[in-house]
Amino acid sequence: MSPGTAWIDNLVSVCLEEFGGAEVPRVAVAPGRVNLIGEHTDYNDGWVLPMAIDRRIGVAFAPRGDRVLRVHSVVFDETRELSIDELAPPGGSEWISYVIGVAWAMSSSGLGVSGADLVVDGDVPLGSGLSSSSALVMATALAMCEVSSIPWSPVEMALLGQRVEREWVGVQGGVMDQFTATMAQEEHALLLDCRSLSHSPVRFPDESMVVVMDTGAPRTLAGSAYNERSASCRAAVEGLQNADPGIRALRDVTTDFLEANRELLDETTYRRARHVVEENARPLAMADALSSGDLNQAGRLMDESHFSLRDLYEVSSRELDLFTDLARDHAACYGARLTGAGFGGCAIALVSAEGAEDFMQSTHSCYRSRVDLPSAVFACRPVSGARLLDL
Ligand code: ADP
Ligand code: MG
Repeated sequence: MSPGTAWIDNLVSVCLEEFGGAEVPRVAVAPGRVNLIGEHTDYNDGWVLPMAIDRRIGVAFAPRGDRVLRVHSVVFDETRELSIDELAPPGGSEWISYVIGVAWAMSSSGLGVSGADLVVDGDVPLGSGLSSSSALVMATALAMCEVSSIPWSPVEMALLGQRVEREWVGVQGGVMDQFTATMAQEEHALLLDCRSLSHSPVRFPDESMVVVMDTGAPRTLAGSAYNERSASCRAAVEGLQNADPGIRALRDVTTDFLEANRELLDETTYRRARHVVEENARPLAMADALSSGDLNQAGRLMDESHFSLRDLYEVSSRELDLFTDLARDHAACYGARLTGAGFGGCAIALVSAEGAEDFMQSTHSCYRSRVDLPSAVFACRPVSGARLLDL
């Protein structure tokens, strides 16, 4: 699948207009992602099943002879210039941080980074939970490796990208997003063990699509609730360690063990733990269902995941519940769930390819008639991770 869209051609023209230069700029792209299943399992050392989507961030780049980075954002219509030798964390959460944080992380891990002119743009919606931030970080990393003649090592670079978001930008998160943006394979989802980082591609059935349903509602509570939920998970581990000191994370807990030791946890902590323990089995079950083309089973797992996030983990919202309910009412839909941290942002539905158009039309128009927010729907198929484009 070739991302031959107008915004990519425009990247190169803007790079030439802004920065001139004798060389024709090259372009690195990295995709956004949806997580098919395995929600709030990543920080419990568990399993996730993300899929890179055909929405990307692109970075046009041209080498410079010095230690300066000049960076232009098409979206923010802004140019920044700084020296690689003057970078010190924390960087802050402005758009430029995701770019220069990469240069900082590379130089602080001993990689010799060269100066460059960069222009960034893309069609991953910003801040909707489709991981535009990691797509930007990983496309920048690939561009910086190219200008600095550093061999591209996807796993090492995904871990470096995670450091950019945690240490430079200051957002605590797992490695799933960066990993997907570098390691994803076309036509496949990616089954990832967040403890060992072992991973395997899972063929996505030809006759189906994932429809992203953006509720248009901001993820206002997501940050504070995220911290609260991860604190509950730690409390659950501490409680359960009284029965088995070998438990390091909820990943190590089975449903039977949790039930047998339920009295060690308060009611809320128990419900949070139960979501994580049950959800952690779903990426593996979903991988089996997708591999064998059992779309009904895959959809059932997505529904169960949503109900568990709604009732046990309590991170859904009125809009996410409504959009997924409407989705399930449509004949083309196998299953639907919120994706990402919750409290707004996006849901996804697994739908038959032939029914996808009608599904999007009718589900979105029902949603819009009930909710006055800037919502959107679009269909996607799995694409590969970060790469250089042949223009
Ligand atoms: P998400 O990763 O879910 O999209 P985040 O809040 O983690 O949401 O990241 C969004 C931020 O990433 C934006 O506010 C912006 O700073 C940066 N960003 C993403 N895409 C672009 C882009 N095309 N150009 C400039 N900055 C971008
Ligand atoms: Mg992000």
